[in-house]
Amino acid sequence: MSTRTVPTLESLRPAPKVLLHDHLDGGLRPRTVVELAESTGYQGLPTTDVDELAHWFRDAADSGSLESYLQTFAHTCGVMQTEEALMRVAAECAEDLAADGVVYAEVRYAPELFTEGDLSLDTVIQAVQAGFTEGERRVAARGQRIRTGTLLCAMRQHARALEIAELAVRYRDAGVVGFDIAGPEAGFPPTRNLDAFEYLRTSNAHFTIHAGEAFGLASIWEAIQHCGAERLGHGVRIVDDVKSAADGQVQLGRLAAYVRDRRIPLEVCPSSNVQTGAARSIAEHPIGLLANLRFRVTVNTDNRLMSGCTLSSEFAALAEAFGFGWPEVQWFTINAMKSAFIDFDERLDLINNVIKPWYAQRT
Ligand SMILES: [Zn+2]
Repeated sequence: MSTRTVPTLESLRPAPKVLLHDHLDGGLRPRTVVELAESTGYQGLPTTDVDELAHWFRDAADSGSLESYLQTFAHTCGVMQTEEALMRVAAECAEDLAADGVVYAEVRYAPELFTEGDLSLDTVIQAVQAGFTEGERRVAARGQRIRTGTLLCAMRQHARALEIAELAVRYRDAGVVGFDIAGPEAGFPPTRNLDAFEYLRTSNAHFTIHAGEAFGLASIWEAIQHCGAERLGHGVRIVDDVKSAADGQVQLGRLAAYVRDRRIPLEVCPSSNVQTGAARSIAEHPIGLLANLRFRVTVNTDNRLMSGCTLSSEFAALAEAFGFGWPEVQWFTINAMKSAFIDFDERLDLINNVIKPWYAQRT
């Protein structure tokens, strides 16, 4: 059998996949947004027609700027201000990911965005974890499997990073596996939150940082060298430090070489990058070059609702654009599993007992 078969969306769905970068408030089912708006009394939706709303999210996110892309979250967060809503969204997230063949997922959210009602940060975290536990239970009842972990995000524009980092550590034995900084990059360098990163490092806790999406190398350099990020959320602008000569020779600058040498994982989200203007098209996305150069590239969804995507559809789009076959899908998947924030033993178990056996039959 040829290993160059380009996988189709249908064939990719049952393939065991690993997702490291997915936002809880960016992955709601459109129907759930409508139903939660109804039950919680949220008035702000542009339409209560499920199909129209699904299209609205995609169009609004297609604006070409990160800032207006982020505005779509006013509605998803608007309907997630109760414990019941948070539990439902988290449970459905686990179910939807499992139905797409995801066997391990790290789903992130900023607890402070769900305290506009009367919820405390602790209640938010407990409700989300209860939802994921319920989702995993439903998935197991269907004979499927998924392991989920959460990352707590602090918002760049707010000044609560240390408080959120402390929560990430407090709940690390209750389903929280790490920390992240999200929100607009412009004007909010990650070095504003050095106290949070120092606290996490001295607590032996894991964290990633959104960097190198809208902003370039300086943002990546700060995230790694000042803050100590283990992974980069997006990180695709690292290509700005890669020079391709006319004869096809490629030269890495010192930062790009450092990122590759240290195997720092890049949480690449192709469709999201096209929507925010970080890449012009999937075909022109830097992931092709970065994968060729063997950076530790992983493939992710970012916001499934806003991009109308799944992890399988991201792989299908990449396979079509770059001719990736099953060996590449397996490579991205093992890259992601190696880069997860759970224990080494668990990562190894998923690689050796779930991922490799499945792909061995494919390739
Ligand atoms: Zn993101």
